[in-house]
Amino acid sequence: MLKLQNVSRLYTEGTVVQALYPTNLTIEQGEFVAIKGPSGCGKSTLLYLLGLLDAPDTGEYCFENERVDQLSRIARAHLRNRSIGFVFQSFNLLSRTSAFDNVLLPLQYGQTPEAATKVRTALEKVGLWDRRQNWSNQLSGGQQQRVAIARALVNDPKLILADEPTGNLDSKTGLDVMKLFQSIHAEGRTVIMVTHNDELINYASRVITMKDGLIIDDTRMKGRN
Ligand code: ADP
Ligand code: MG
Repeated sequence: MLKLQNVSRLYTEGTVVQALYPTNLTIEQGEFVAIKGPSGCGKSTLLYLLGLLDAPDTGEYCFENERVDQLSRIARAHLRNRSIGFVFQSFNLLSRTSAFDNVLLPLQYGQTPEAATKVRTALEKVGLWDRRQNWSNQLSGGQQQRVAIARALVNDPKLILADEPTGNLDSKTGLDVMKLFQSIHAEGRTVIMVTHNDELINYASRVITMKDGLIIDDTRMKGRN
């Protein structure tokens, strides 16, 4: 599904940082991949490149057999909107905006019955259809993250990326959110998640460990997928 060849990222604004050294990585459809490693080791950089939020400085990136490393920012955004759902640590919902409207946001033609049905399906999947009229700031952290997950699912993407999605949640709520990701994976979607909670890593079928801008370990867990 995804293939990186010698992909690297050098930040040059302010201090120059080689956030990702030339990296090779292949991820197949249907994997549940956890990425771990200490703060600052390049996890988010790798995830943002995989998720087409950023473009590499060197190397080739094939997304579903299509070269995407040279795409314009706009072309990347279109492909991302169609094919990828992204979940962030800080939820990134619009405040003073209902759960319904937050989930509606990625749909290009929002005011149609089809769009409303998609929003309903996504909010039901995360168990929050009854809270659809609440503003996001009227919801608990765990509920906000579930709305963010519904928003990531609303275009029915094959790939879900999440950057420390449980980082701002207490451990029980974090576990509930992980179970949600597990069911999303069980539907046949590919999930790639950054987390440094070892307990949550047990949900993954493959664990990638990073250090100082490099992948230093890549382990497939037996009996899982
Ligand atoms: P992690 O997610 O593992 O904590 P990041 O990928 O966010 O690590 O960051 C990797 C390195 O790149 C860090 O040293 C960080 O300070 C630096 N970095 C991240 N984003 C930027 C940016 N936009 N500009 C400059 N440096 C950055
Ligand atoms: Mg990070």
